Parts: sequence; C-alpha cells; structure tokens
Amino acid sequence: MRRFLIAGNWKMNKTATEAVMLVRQFFEQLPKTSRVDIILAPPFTALPAVAGTLGPQTPHVSLGAQNVFWEDHGAFTGEVSAPMLADLHCQYVIVGHSERRQLLGETDAAVAKKITALLRHGLRPIVCVGETKDERLRHETERVVSRQILGGLGHLSADQLDFVTIAYEPVWAIGTGEAASVDQAALVHRHIRTVMTSQWKTSVGHNIRILYGGSVNAKNAGTFLASPEVNGALVGGACLDPAAFATIAAIAEATS
Ligand code: PEP
Repeated sequence: MRRFLIAGNWKMNKTATEAVMLVRQFFEQLPKTSRVDIILAPPFTALPAVAGTLGPQTPHVSLGAQNVFWEDHGAFTGEVSAPMLADLHCQYVIVGHSERRQLLGETDAAVAKKITALLRHGLRPIVCVGETKDERLRHETERVVSRQILGGLGHLSADQLDFVTIAYEPVWAIGTGEAASVDQAALVHRHIRTVMTSQWKTSVGHNIRILYGGSVNAKNAGTFLASPEVNGALVGGACLDPAAFATIAAIAEATS
C-alpha cells in the first residue's frame, strides 16, 4: 500500500512568527506518525522559520512551498526559483493550484514549465487539477482534468512521474465547506489513473500518488482516506487549526 501524504496548504496566512507558534502547537498534538508523510506549505516568507522547527524529532514532516517560477534566476521581479526553494530545504512544491489558475492566470503551459524546473532541482511537484462547478454541471470534468494532466505532465517521462504527486481538487469544493463525495472523488481519481496508463504505462497509472483536496476536515478525512483510490489529502483551511490538522494526520496513521 502507498504511504498516505497529508499536505497543509497555508495559502497567504501567517507571518513567520505566527507560523512557528502554529507549528509548535501542531507538533504538540501530532501523534508519532511513522506511516504517513506530512507536508507543511507555509507562505514563502515563513519557510526558513518553519524549516527551523523541523529536525530528527519530525522525520516524516517535510517542507513545501506554494508556488515557484520556472527560470532559475534573472530579471523576474517578485518571483522565487526552484534552487532558492531547495536551498531553504523545501522538498515539495504545489503547482497549478486553482487559486493561481483562476486569479493569476496560471496556464497548463506555465504549470508544465514549473514542473520541469522543480524536477531539475530535485523538488517534488504536487500538481493540482480540478473542474469548476459549471464544468461539472456541463459534464466536462473528465475532459478538463485530462487536459490539465496532459498539458502539465505530458512532456515528462514515466521515470520522472515517480517524483510527482497529483491533487484532485474540484474548484467548487475548495474553501466552500462543500467537499466532494467520496464516490465523486474516487471516480475522478480512477479517470486520472486511466489517462496516465494510456499516456505512459500501467505502472504509472497504478503508482501515481493522488490526493483529494477540497474542504477536507477532521470530520470527513476518514471517509476519503478509506477509499483505495485516495492516497492522501491536500488540506487548506483545516491545516491552520493545529488540532484539526493533527487529527487528520492521526486518522491517516490509523487508516494506513
Ligand atoms: C486548498 O487550498 O488546496 C484547499 C483544499 O482548501 P480547503 O481545504 O480550505 O478547501
């Protein structure tokens, strides 16, 4: 069985000082997890402070960033590159989050370039895909998700996909309290595996780690993690509550 991955996307929340307090509270409540990978993805400005809280006592907790630029350095005011993140001990980076796609115009082509940059520097992309409410109502979910998968990942080799995690995040479920049903999530996860099997090979479709994201909380996490299609969760709002995030990690540990 694949190890669960539970990632917390802090979005644009917490100063560096607040971040350290939040992480300390989280660690106080986190059970000894040995079967679950946990990722903390605070804002760029809090990465060094959060990195400073990790150590031998937290072997399964890694640092993640929420975005990256595709060039390594140069005249790109305001951007942050993969080598800069690697230097801060980041191991994972979220790309293609729907908030970036919708608010900042991030395209599949940009996502593809970001993924290439991350892999070049040994960082692991968490690639977000998902349909809007209108697209679901128009029965376009599979088409949209296929386009995002092939547009973002289509240039990679099967070997490179070993380092990639996909997060299925229906846009209508993010931050709304209206999570998808487990059946809805499982259907799309299966579709993603089918697309990947036909584009690459069966082992890619089988092995790719697919997280569900969208209003996951301490109450509903168990039902998602009980599905064999779901390999973990990308958690937004609930990860800012140390007790809730620790409970989700404990549920993953108990379900492993
Ligand atoms: C997210 O931002 O990736 C997310 C899933 O948010 P929320 O858990 O708040 O829906």
